[in-house]
Amino acid sequence: MKITQDMHLHTLLSACSQDPGQTPAALVDWAAAHGVRTICLTDHFWDEKVPGASDWYAPQNRAHHHRIYGMLSQDTQGVTVLVGCECEYLGGDKLSIAPDAMAAMDFINIPIDHFHMKDFVCPASVRTAEEVAALYLVRFREVLELPLPWEKIALAHLNDILSFQEILPQVLDTLPEAELGTLFTRCARLGAKVEINTSICARDLWYRHIPQHRRFLGLAKECGCQFTFGSDSHHPQGLTTLLFGQLAVDAVGLTEADIFDPSGLGRARDDATIS
Ligand SMILES: [Zn+2]
Ligand SMILES: [Zn+2]
Repeated sequence: MKITQDMHLHTLLSACSQDPGQTPAALVDWAAAHGVRTICLTDHFWDEKVPGASDWYAPQNRAHHHRIYGMLSQDTQGVTVLVGCECEYLGGDKLSIAPDAMAAMDFINIPIDHFHMKDFVCPASVRTAEEVAALYLVRFREVLELPLPWEKIALAHLNDILSFQEILPQVLDTLPEAELGTLFTRCARLGAKVEINTSICARDLWYRHIPQHRRFLGLAKECGCQFTFGSDSHHPQGLTTLLFGQLAVDAVGLTEADIFDPSGLGRARDDATIS
């Protein structure tokens, strides 16, 4: 199976990129050269219609996000270029994007585990594998309760759990099979996609913990979830991690039928209704 989509990409607009080489044109060039037919530009986004942005998120607002449309070139070399975002989720109904902005996005990545943002996404008191797993399950359950356009949403890097990578296998082992199965079944029913974050596959985080990743992603497959591939690249050299997605394909035994087909998604618009 050939990986022909990258649904999670940061451009130089993301505060954690700001890499002059990470232009939409450079991403298109790479995609065209590697047989990737669809890319989605998903810079971090905090909608000012939603109160509570952190200092880091606040400048990454609507006007900032809108700049991406001015950076797109007409010649995409046959690559479909979608425009979306990676928003933030703080639990409960606290999602960093209002419904009208969500409607204007082609595709949205929702992370439930940006736990490196201490006392914002994750209380600093959460430390042990049991505590991390408990918070993770609450967030996973809560986010699926939200009335969102799930047909164009992926849950990003679910098997990463940022800032707790040193105890990642313990956290993943602590997640009860039955509860995880219930959540994945709900994802499948809603149409929420599970992201295969290929930057994980390219790191020792993958090969040191293959049994955990295989169990986690395998359960999602068993429950009928569809998967997206996302390099989560912030710099040009990160793009190549997309190719490491093959490790997940092989480990889990994924087929074309397990992969989300993005061809039905809308094309990037420069008349996006967010303003
Ligand atoms: Zn993320
Ligand atoms: Zn990201």
